[in-house]
Amino acid sequence: MSTLKLKKHADGFILDYGHVRLALDTGIKGETTLLTHGHTDHIRGVDMAHRIVATKATIDTLRARGHRVMSRIEPLEYNQRIGQLGVVVTALNAGHVLGSTMYLMEFDEGLSVLYTGDFNVVDSMVHKAAAPVLADVLITEATYGSPEWVFPSRKSIYNDILTTTAEVMEKGRIPVFLAYSLGKAQEAIALLQWGGFNVITGNHRIDEVCKVYNQHGSDLRHTSLTNRNAKNLLTDGCAIVSSSFHHTRRNIRTEMGSQEANRLMNNMEHYSLSGWTLGDSSKTGFPLSAHSDFKGLKMFAKKVKPRVVYCFTDNATHFSGHLADEGLNAVPLE
Ligand SMILES: [Zn+2]
Repeated sequence: MSTLKLKKHADGFILDYGHVRLALDTGIKGETTLLTHGHTDHIRGVDMAHRIVATKATIDTLRARGHRVMSRIEPLEYNQRIGQLGVVVTALNAGHVLGSTMYLMEFDEGLSVLYTGDFNVVDSMVHKAAAPVLADVLITEATYGSPEWVFPSRKSIYNDILTTTAEVMEKGRIPVFLAYSLGKAQEAIALLQWGGFNVITGNHRIDEVCKVYNQHGSDLRHTSLTNRNAKNLLTDGCAIVSSSFHHTRRNIRTEMGSQEANRLMNNMEHYSLSGWTLGDSSKTGFPLSAHSDFKGLKMFAKKVKPRVVYCFTDNATHFSGHLADEGLNAVPLE
């Protein structure tokens, strides 16, 4: 029986098993990369790859964010299996952002390995929750892998965001929600739209990613700051979703002039949409996360029923300890 070897490489990993070598969220010359999604901390080095396996949505979001993909691309859909010598790989929904994927690798010698990338076990307005599958080895993120990171229900976070939006607008002010341009921004837009609010997007990057979401089945109806109608909406009442307040400020100045921009900006209330806002009074915002919380990570790992779990990201050591308490053989990947 061969030995599974995992080595950190850039922000991802190189997996070796028998004569199979795969790059996970990174790239090496002449080899295949399994790319989970388009966030910056998962794509470093992927252009070195001989070929990139990813969902079409992931490739589309990469391009929308200005990344020129140079390698050969092998697009696949969820639950589609592809084979190469020694291994069959299945793409599974990861629930993190549009197109995000977990990969189940089934090797000819019988070993199965599940690599999660970033994942979320909770449904959102624009993403479906990730579901566990059985595997001998689990390689899991552990971003919120410590017991203090248990989020309120999605429904209650959504309610809080909508209530605050209504209250701020009632006072004649403009709520501004800061969120990643891929994933969280689209969730915020969908939520605010569902709540009946007009939504302005504060920077171009979000607009480009929204187009991809709509091409893949979403119905996001927001107004870009550069749209002629934006000025009226800003005066009549709206919420802003931005991934860069610096760009939003600049765009408002360009579109409306300094005087009007200053008046509008003095009339804004800012909120972060991030899991890290939980219990942190220095951060004004809502704990809306695209990742699983501690309970979700633990539940997921137990349902995979792995013989060994490798944990990565910041809380890997903490999370490995907690999994060991649950009787799992868990190891942090350094
Ligand atoms: Zn991510």
